[in-house]
Amino acid sequence: MKFRTILFLLPVVVLIVSCNKHGRNLEITERYFDKIKHEGDNAGLTMFFTQMPKGGDLHHHYSGALYAETYLDWAGKKGLRINTDSWRLDTNRSDITIDSLKRNTALYRKVLEVWSDEDFSDNFHLQEPPDQHFFNTFGYFGNISKDFYHAGLEEIKDEAEKENVQYIETMLNFPHMGVKLNPALNDSMENLQYSKDTVRLYKVFSSFVNAIEADPGYNKSETDYIKELYTAHESIDDTAFTMRFQAYAVRTLPPENVFATLYGCFDAVVRDKSALLVGVNIVAPENNYIAMRDYWLHMQMFRYLKKMFPSVKTDMHAGELCLGMVKPQDLTYHIHDAVFTANADRIGHGVDIPYETEAQATLKKMKADSIAVEINLTSNEFILGVKGNDHPVNLYYDAGVAIVISTDDAGVSRNNLTSQYVLLASRYHYSYQQIKAFVFNSITYSFMKPAEKAALKEKLNRKFDAFEAAIANDYHNSK
Ligand SMILES: [Zn+2]
Repeated sequence: MKFRTILFLLPVVVLIVSCNKHGRNLEITERYFDKIKHEGDNAGLTMFFTQMPKGGDLHHHYSGALYAETYLDWAGKKGLRINTDSWRLDTNRSDITIDSLKRNTALYRKVLEVWSDEDFSDNFHLQEPPDQHFFNTFGYFGNISKDFYHAGLEEIKDEAEKENVQYIETMLNFPHMGVKLNPALNDSMENLQYSKDTVRLYKVFSSFVNAIEADPGYNKSETDYIKELYTAHESIDDTAFTMRFQAYAVRTLPPENVFATLYGCFDAVVRDKSALLVGVNIVAPENNYIAMRDYWLHMQMFRYLKKMFPSVKTDMHAGELCLGMVKPQDLTYHIHDAVFTANADRIGHGVDIPYETEAQATLKKMKADSIAVEINLTSNEFILGVKGNDHPVNLYYDAGVAIVISTDDAGVSRNNLTSQYVLLASRYHYSYQQIKAFVFNSITYSFMKPAEKAALKEKLNRKFDAFEAAIANDYHNSK
């Protein structure tokens, strides 16, 4: 063979050898995963998933992601004290300092129990319902979480990097609408919700939009909001770690507040040309009285705003409900309406799908339209008591719906993304390749720009090659 021909063929040979090597590493990794899974070796699974690249965490609340210990450190820095009756932060001289609290093991432990899910399941005493406990925690640290955006986002990034997570899409804050609201609109929207008159309702929305746009305070609230996001993001080196934000409205507020905030959210995503803000969500307990009462109205708001801002992606908490939490008939339509009426791009939780009247049609549509479902196993177990075979993750998988694995509120739940993969692998029969596909879903179904997704996928491929090579090497040497 001539020298030039050898030179020409060399890259092809290198490629074949490298493909064979990757294929062999993948095969050994699969074998090792099957072994620890079938042995029920949860410690082995934890080590495996700690090291496995996990792509993105797409269902992530900033304030719920931080641990109570961090909030106490910040409270100490601000010179705040803690009231040992209410467990709230304040400045009263009669309350104890954070330093004294930290030196008192019993009191310190108590704050962790009140401010998070710590010890909730291990203690036998009278306690509030788990869903109420979970959502109440935000009332203790919500305010201070906003005073330390730089430190908070940095901590979230550091934790993510330590467990090999490449991307976070977090719900940081919402636009504080500096516009004059008209409480009469609440009654008008409620009446139209009662009659399901969408024609007149959209006229109300339209005149409300005009009033918002004409309000002298509106532009400032939007620019302030976007500026706040960019200032918060300053501490993250975008070339080293990718973090993006979702805006959101709170579904337990009166309809005019929800609509005004949603309008501000959609508009802010469009105004933010650099796309740090990538989507819109709706949050807060779905079983709350107002959230249940206004569900139809909220779906119409999303539908209307999606038409107005067609490029804006939406991710909706929908179906975070279970039997016994609400009336059975209220379990029958939330995911369906988020998909068919509100045109959601992703569904958060989606737990009540087995109870929904049009479940099959919804699953088909989610598959056809590439609407992913975000699975939050610990959160669903704690808040809803839904776990194991009661959880619909297999229903989604079997219907061909794209699955992503996420944390929801790692700080409140006192877990991390690794633990969610351990639960998934130990409870359900997914292979390594299927789980790897879920990891890639977390980039594919994120709301990043296409070029950013492509770059992160490439990075993820390289990380998986390195991970599988390391597993293959360790497993080979251990035998
Ligand atoms: Zn959530």
